[in-house]
Amino acid sequence: MTGSHNHSELRDPIADLCRRYPDEYWRGIDQERRYPEEFVRALTEAGWLAALIPEQYGGSGLGITEASVILEQINRSGGNAAACHAQMYTMGTVLRHGSEQQKQRYLPKIASGELRLQAFAVTEPSAGTDTTKIRTTAIRNGDRYIINGQKVWTSRVQHSDLMLLFARTTPIEQVSKKTEGLSVFLVDLREAVGNGLTVKPIDTMINHETNELYFDELEVPEDNIIGEQGRGFRYLLDGLNAERILIAAECIGDGDWFIERATAYARERVVFDRPIGQNQGIQFPLAHAYANVRAADLMRYRAAKLFDGGLPCGAEANMAKLLAADASWEAANAALQTHGGYGFASEYDVERKFRETRLFQVAPISTNLILSYIAEHILGLPRSF
Ligand SMILES: Cc1cc2nc3c(=O)[nH]c(=O)nc-3n(C[C@H](O)[C@H](O)[C@H](O)COP(=O)(O)OP(=O)(O)OC[C@H]3O[C@@H](n4cnc5c(N)ncnc54)[C@H](O)[C@@H]3O)c2cc1C
Repeated sequence: MTGSHNHSELRDPIADLCRRYPDEYWRGIDQERRYPEEFVRALTEAGWLAALIPEQYGGSGLGITEASVILEQINRSGGNAAACHAQMYTMGTVLRHGSEQQKQRYLPKIASGELRLQAFAVTEPSAGTDTTKIRTTAIRNGDRYIINGQKVWTSRVQHSDLMLLFARTTPIEQVSKKTEGLSVFLVDLREAVGNGLTVKPIDTMINHETNELYFDELEVPEDNIIGEQGRGFRYLLDGLNAERILIAAECIGDGDWFIERATAYARERVVFDRPIGQNQGIQFPLAHAYANVRAADLMRYRAAKLFDGGLPCGAEANMAKLLAADASWEAANAALQTHGGYGFASEYDVERKFRETRLFQVAPISTNLILSYIAEHILGLPRSF
C-alpha cells in the first residue's frame, strides 16, 4: 500500500527492528506513561537517529527523504516516532549555524547517542504561537549569559542531555523588527537542572514527555550561543522545513497503519451475516482516507526532493504537513468507526494511535498557521497578523 517510493533498504530493517517492539510494548508504555527507552536505545544503536548527521561527524549523511522514510516506518509499524524524532533533526541548528568547534564537540557524540539533544524550548505560556513575543531573556554578563523566564511544552527534556533554548537577547522595544534580538543557546541540562532550571512535567492525553520550564538566573557560558547573537529567529525558520517534512512522513505512517488495521478488521468482522467491509458505508470512508494519504505522500516526497536538492521548499513542506496531518486524522477517524465499540478498547491500539495522531493538528505547528502561511506567502493575500 505504499506509494511509488519504496525504499525497502530502509523500510525492511526498520520494520524488523520495530517487530521487536510490538503493539503490547507501545500499549504498555502508554498505560504506564513511560518513555520508550528500550526502543529509542535500539534505534540509536542501529544508527538510525544519526541519519542526518554528515559522515565527517560520525553520522550516515543521508538526505531528508531517507530520514523521513525512517520515521514514517516507525509510525507505520505501530510505534510513535515522536518519542525520539527530535534527536534526528534538532542538531540541524548546530550543524547549519554552530561553530566548527561546537560541531566537533557535539555532533559525533549526538551521532553515537552518547549525548541526546532532543529538546528545543521555544513555546511560552503568554506568547503562544506568536514566537517573537517570548519573554525569556538571556542577558550577557562577562563570559556568561544569564537566563530568566518560563517555557511550556518543552518535550523530551527528561530524556535529553542538551537542549536548545530560544531567548530574547535584546528587548523587543529596542529592535527595528520584532524578529531581531532573538538568540539560540545550547543548554547543558546535566548542569542546568537544579542550578537555575526547574522542570515540571505536564500530564497530557498522549504519552509524550513534555514539560514546563522555569529559568531563574540560569548561567550559560558565552561559548554556548549558536551562531550570531540576535539572529536566532532566522536560525529557527531554517529548521522548520525539515521538521515539517519529517512530521508529514510520521502522519503518513500513521495513516497507512490505520487503514491497514481497519481494512483487516473490516474483512474479518461479520455482522448481519457478512463482513462489515462489504458495506460501502464502511468501504468509502477508508477509500477516501487512503486516497488522501497517498496524495499527501506525493507532496511529502516532492518537498523532500526539493529540500535534498537545496531548492526552496517552504510551500511544499508546509502543504505536506497540512495534507498529511489531515489525512492521518481522517484515517484515524475512519479506523475508529470501522472498529465500532472495539475502537475504544486499548487492546486494539486504535484509540492510542488516534490520540497520538491528533497532536499533529496542533504541534509542532497548528493547521491554522500553515493555512495562513499559504494564504499570505503563496496566494499573496494581505497579512492578517
Ligand atoms: C504534546 C506537545 C508537545 C510540544 N512540544 C513542543 C516542544 O518540544 N517545544 C516547543 O517549543 N513547543 C512545543 N509544543 C508547543 C506547540 O508548538 C504549540 O502548542 C503550538 O505551536 C500552538 O501554540 P499554543 O499552544 O500556545 O496555542 P495558541 O498560540 O494559544 O493558539 C491556540 C489556537 O488558536 C489558533 N490561532 C492563534 N493565532 C491565530 C491566528 N492569528 N489565526 C488563526 N488561528 C490562530 C492556533 O492555531 C491554535 O489552534 C508542544 C505542544 C504539545 C501539545
